[in-house]
Amino acid sequence: MRVPLLDLSAQYQALAGPIRQQIDEVLQTQRFILGPKVEQFESALCDYTGTKFAIGVSSGTDALLAVLMALEIGPGDAILTTPYSFFATAACIARVGATPLFVDMDPATFNISAAALRSFIEKNCRQTDGVLMTRERQAVRLIIPVHLFGLCCDMDAIMEIAREFDLLVVEDAAQAIGAGYPQTDATGLAGTIGDVGCFSFYPSKNLGAAGDAGAIICDNENLATRIRTCRQHGMEPRYHHQFIGGNFRLDELQAAILQVKLPHLSNWSGARRAAADFYRAEFSRRNLGDSIILPSEPYRERIGNHHIYHQFVVRAEARDELRAHLTRNEIGTEIYYPVPLHLQECFFYLGYKEGDLPEAERAAAETLALPIYPELSRDAQRFVVDKIAEFYG
Ligand SMILES: *Cc1c(COP(=O)(O)O)cnc(C)c1O
Repeated sequence: MRVPLLDLSAQYQALAGPIRQQIDEVLQTQRFILGPKVEQFESALCDYTGTKFAIGVSSGTDALLAVLMALEIGPGDAILTTPYSFFATAACIARVGATPLFVDMDPATFNISAAALRSFIEKNCRQTDGVLMTRERQAVRLIIPVHLFGLCCDMDAIMEIAREFDLLVVEDAAQAIGAGYPQTDATGLAGTIGDVGCFSFYPSKNLGAAGDAGAIICDNENLATRIRTCRQHGMEPRYHHQFIGGNFRLDELQAAILQVKLPHLSNWSGARRAAADFYRAEFSRRNLGDSIILPSEPYRERIGNHHIYHQFVVRAEARDELRAHLTRNEIGTEIYYPVPLHLQECFFYLGYKEGDLPEAERAAAETLALPIYPELSRDAQRFVVDKIAEFYG
C-alpha cells in the first residue's frame, strides 16, 4: 500500500466543477490583477476570522515581508522569534535589515517558549526611554510567534510580555488558519490575537491555492491601509509612491479558487483532527509509547478547534532509521525541520553555535511528520502504524 505524505487530488476532484467555473469567469473578464475576486475573498476571510481587515498577498513569505516593511522595521531593529520554523519567518526579518533574536521552543508544543522569551529579555535586554534595547544597542520592536504544525502558541503569556515591554506581535499563522486558542470570553483564532496575522495559501497548506498566495489580517485601520499600500509599491494615489513597498498582490485567479475552498476549511480541519485521533488510538493499541511521542494537545479540553493538524509530527526513537523503513514501505514522511534556523549557513553571521538552543536542536534530530490530510483513509493510517510497530517490534 502506498501512502503519500499528502495527496491533494481527492480534494480537487470534489471541487473541480466550481473551481473551473471560477477560473472561467476570470478568463472571460480578463481582470487578472486586484479585481472583484480578490475583494470577495478578502471579505470572506474577514468573516471567517472575525477581523476587520484582510489584505490578500502573493505568498506567506510576502505577507511577513510586507508587514515588516509597512511597520518600517529595518537596520538597528531586532525581532524575537523561534528557531524552529520554516525559513521564511527569520528570512523576512533579515531581508529588511533587522536582526532575528532566536528564543528556544517549548519541547511539548514545538512552539516558542514564553518562559524562555521572558528570561531572554530579562537577561539580554534593557528598557531605555520606553524602548527595549539589546546589549548591541538594537531596538527590540516585535515578537513573531509561529503557530507551528497548526497549534497556537501560548498567546496569553506572549501577549503579557508584549504589553509589558511595549512590543508588537505579528503572528506567523501560515500553518494554522482556523486553529483556536482558548480565551476567557471566547475562542480566539490563530492570527487574530496579536496585532497582525499572516497566512500562507501555498498548495500544501490547509487552505491551499493553485500556486503561491497569502493574506494578512488585522483590526487596526491605519496599519491595514499602510499594508494595502505596501502591497502595491507603496503607491497611493496611482504613480505617487509614499514609501517603498513591493509587488505583493494576491492574484485574481488564486483568489477565485480560494473563495471556493474557504467554506470547506472547517470541515477539513475537523477531518484532520479525526485522523489525528485515529492515529492516537492505533499508537496506543500497539503500545508504541516507549518509542514514539505523539503531538501534545494542550487546549483539547477547552475548545473544539484546538489543533488543525497541518502536520502530525511525532518524536521517534532512531528517527532516521524509522524513516528509511517507512520509505521502503512506500509511506511518505518528512522532517520539519532538519536544521534549526539559528544553525542555517546563511545565519552564521549572527554568531550562534551548536548547543545554544538545545530544544530546537533536539527536535530537529527527533521529529518526523506522518501522512495527514482530510481524505486520508483509516486503512492507510492503520498501515502506517503497523509499519512503525514492525520497525520497533
Ligand atoms: C509556509 C510557511 C511560510 C511561507 O509561506 P509561503 O506561502 O510558502 O511563502 C512562512 N512561515 C511558515 C511557518 C510556513 O509554514
